[in-house]
Amino acid sequence: MNASVLVCGAAFDGFSGELAGRTEIAVRDGVIVEIGPSVGRPDGARVIDLSERTVCPGFIDTHVHLTMDGSDIGRQTLDSSATKALKGLAIAREYLGYGFTTLRDLGSMDPEFPTVDLRNALDAGLAEGPRLIVAGHVISSTAGHGDMSGFYPPRWDLPVSAVADGTAQIRALVRREHAYGGDWIKTANAGGYFSVGDDPARTTWLDDEMDAVCSTARLLGMPVAVHTGGADACKQAIRAGARSLEHAYLIDEEGIEMARRDGVYVVPTMQMTKEDLAALHDGTLPEQAVWKFRRDSEHILNSQRLLAGSDIKIAFGTDCGMFPFSHGIREFSAMVDAGLTPLRALQAATSTAAEMLGRDDLGRLEPGARADIVAMPGNPLEDITVTSAVDFVMADGVVHRWPEGSDASAA
Ligand SMILES: [Zn+2]
Repeated sequence: MNASVLVCGAAFDGFSGELAGRTEIAVRDGVIVEIGPSVGRPDGARVIDLSERTVCPGFIDTHVHLTMDGSDIGRQTLDSSATKALKGLAIAREYLGYGFTTLRDLGSMDPEFPTVDLRNALDAGLAEGPRLIVAGHVISSTAGHGDMSGFYPPRWDLPVSAVADGTAQIRALVRREHAYGGDWIKTANAGGYFSVGDDPARTTWLDDEMDAVCSTARLLGMPVAVHTGGADACKQAIRAGARSLEHAYLIDEEGIEMARRDGVYVVPTMQMTKEDLAALHDGTLPEQAVWKFRRDSEHILNSQRLLAGSDIKIAFGTDCGMFPFSHGIREFSAMVDAGLTPLRALQAATSTAAEMLGRDDLGRLEPGARADIVAMPGNPLEDITVTSAVDFVMADGVVHRWPEGSDASAA
């Protein structure tokens, strides 16, 4: 048995707009067993002093790419699957240290399934790291966002893209993702900013193709995450039955209303836009992205403000991999800058993200939940930037990071 009691100065439970004051949390075998102003001491429990800290459920980043490196996508996709998985493990462990205890990885560019292997290794306890939920690849049309051929010399036929055209090919690819162990289906129904030869404002699936992705996934019990951009593409994804819209760069009010009505989650990746606009300003943006951002940047920021001003379900996701994981925590501030309250940004990374993932044992501090707990100095409901000062991380009851100079063994 592995037991601990956390003595906390204050607590955000994943939901409430007010912090609980002094709180104790008893943890046994990876699960929260009791929480309140004072709790019993399980036999042999280690007492952890967080009396100068606010605790929060472990953060959930619902959009990462552990096996992609946006600084050199074309070359890096040619790494072996094993190299991608091992590099991804190192990155996942680093990211856990910032407070991210659960990650949804939305696709590798690889002939195999490196993130499925990584998830299985973590689940089996072969390595320590965050909990992973994965979509193996980005199913896309030829010349769509997930088609990597634009990064290579013409006519190189490299099997790193999950490309399909027409409903029969799409169904086969969705079934393959399921057969090889994917948890989610990821698809792209619009172009992207960094991809070569496409346009984020244009829809890339025909309606029957988008429907084929979602209906096949539904048959297999898999939720669908859709990289999407233009307002038409956002609406197509909602009509087809997507569970989450990724980016939704150019969504309009009608699309937001449709998402609200159907309970579709939006993962707006707002920090990435900040990174990209900074790169545009510095002249370091890749050539294929420049004209797209010049045209769309105001439109994207306006759509983000519309999302922030609505009451739809917004989940926290960064797209890290496309920019450094060390910047992922800044998504909290980016969300607040766009107009979300600190409470909604925190919920996005805890209870709302867990709900999107269908995991009522995550994203909350309550008996029965997994003991994924992070701590930071200060009050994140008043100052969201303290999220970047997380210095205690527990995942599944195991402490991965201690505040500097802390005494871990106090009894
Ligand atoms: Zn992505």
